[in-house]
Amino acid sequence: KSIIEIQNMTKTYRLGGEVVQALQGISLQIHSGDFLAIVGPSGSGKSTFMNMIGCLDRPDAGSYFLDGKEIARLNDNELAAIRNEKIGFIFQNFFLLPRLTALENVELPLLYRGMKIKERQQIAQECLKKVGLIERAHHLPSQLSGGQQQRVAIARALVGNPPILLADEPTGALDSKTSQEIINIMKGLNEQGHTIIIITHDWEVAKQAKRIVRIQDGRLFESRGDFIEAS
Ligand code: ADP
Ligand code: ADP
Repeated sequence: KSIIEIQNMTKTYRLGGEVVQALQGISLQIHSGDFLAIVGPSGSGKSTFMNMIGCLDRPDAGSYFLDGKEIARLNDNELAAIRNEKIGFIFQNFFLLPRLTALENVELPLLYRGMKIKERQQIAQECLKKVGLIERAHHLPSQLSGGQQQRVAIARALVGNPPILLADEPTGALDSKTSQEIINIMKGLNEQGHTIIIITHDWEVAKQAKRIVRIQDGRLFESRGDFIEAS
């Protein structure tokens, strides 16, 4: 079953007189349980595409069904609601709040949803267990390594139990050994049923995905790994 179905998506930016066609008619189906890597050179449209998949921005044209809902028909509030329900975001630079402990950072999305403290803490603790970091629950981000901070960020992405995890260069700030630990966690989450989408420049990361797609000049190509490695 397709959890994401994108047909002929386009996005054009206009800056003064300059017109940039960032996405030039992208179609992509992602099945529930997929583990997809999106690769491509700088400026090719990856971030733009991620913003579309993540319901952070709207395409100019084309259709996007997310878990059966047509995104173009939703107003801003509905868009935010479906984003919170369906997608957990993970970023290169973690985006943890420095004055909050690991546990408090993980709790934060639940606080915004108005959940009571006991329930919040229980869910956040379960998510920290899933990423193997419960023993660091009361540490501040500055007291954690980069890999540990990324694990906190993954736990935070998991608190709403979203079907999709969308990660933008999740290993971009990490050494190769730590990168592999993060990928192993994502593989585990994939086995537990989460659909994983990773944008990455790192071939060692991309080749571990079940599927690799390449974006070039705003167009998408389904690729076999050997093609990408050679290019
Ligand atoms: P984002 O769109 O997520 O900000 P960019 O595509 O701008 O990411 O690239 C982030 C960094 O990766 C930049 O410093 C860029 O120079 C570098 N980079 C871009 N393309 C490649 C590539 N093919 N291989 C390795 N590094 C790359
Ligand atoms: P990538 O993530 O692969 O580096 P982007 O999606 O960031 O690529 O950018 C694709 C193209 O769209 C680039 O030419 C970039 O300069 C342009 N672009 C991206 N965001 C904007 C914006 N907000 N305004 C104008 N042009 C943009």
